[in-house]
Parts: sequence; structure tokens; C-alpha cells
Amino acid sequence: MAKCSLCGREKSLSQSCLKHFIRIDGVFYEALPYKPRNKTLYEIHNNVKKRCPHCGVIEGGYHHVGCIFEVCPKCLRFWLSCNCFGIKTLKSNEEPKVVFLENFRNK
Ligand SMILES: [Zn+2]
Ligand SMILES: [Zn+2]
Ligand SMILES: [Zn+2]
Repeated sequence: MAKCSLCGREKSLSQSCLKHFIRIDGVFYEALPYKPRNKTLYEIHNNVKKRCPHCGVIEGGYHHVGCIFEVCPKCLRFWLSCNCFGIKTLKSNEEPKVVFLENFRNK
């Protein structure tokens, strides 16, 4: 059993981490919620909620710290292996400069 260092919840029991930001080069990006890529048609039609196979959050929830399926909101590769060196943070305490993903994608 392991507790998440951001929300303090037991990873295997909680449905989502706290909503948080990932700070990259002084810019705060909204963390991306879990979206399973391998849903079957049956699961889509019946609205079956899947859980992250690594940290256990439910579909639409935020990954816990250290999850290998966390996606970097800047480069959209896996956060643990990308080169952005993002830092998870609960709120933007210094400069309140927050980049929402919608704005980011429409550029
Ligand atoms: Zn996860
Ligand atoms: Zn967490
Ligand atoms: Zn990245």
C-alpha cells in the first residue's frame, strides 16, 4: 500500500488525485485527467469507467504522483520520461500564470 505524496490518499483506494498543476519553466499547466485509450465498443456504449492500470484512479480523475501513465501537458508524452522536467504543484503560488489546455491546443 502506498500513499500519494500530493493528496495523501491511499493510491489503490482513491478515485482521483487532487486537481493540480504541472509547472514547467515557470508556467503552470493543468494536469491531464486519465483517459483510457483501449476501450472496447462495449465499454463505450455501456459507459464503463476504467481505472488507471498503474495508480488506480478512475477515468476522468487525476493521476497520483509517480504514475507512469501521467501525460505531460506540455509535450503530451509521458511525464516521467519527457524532457520538460515538470514539477507537480497544487496551486500557482508565485506568479498566478496558468495556461489552460484549451488555449494551448488551439494555438
Ligand atoms: Zn495513473
Ligand atoms: Zn494523489
Ligand atoms: Zn513534457
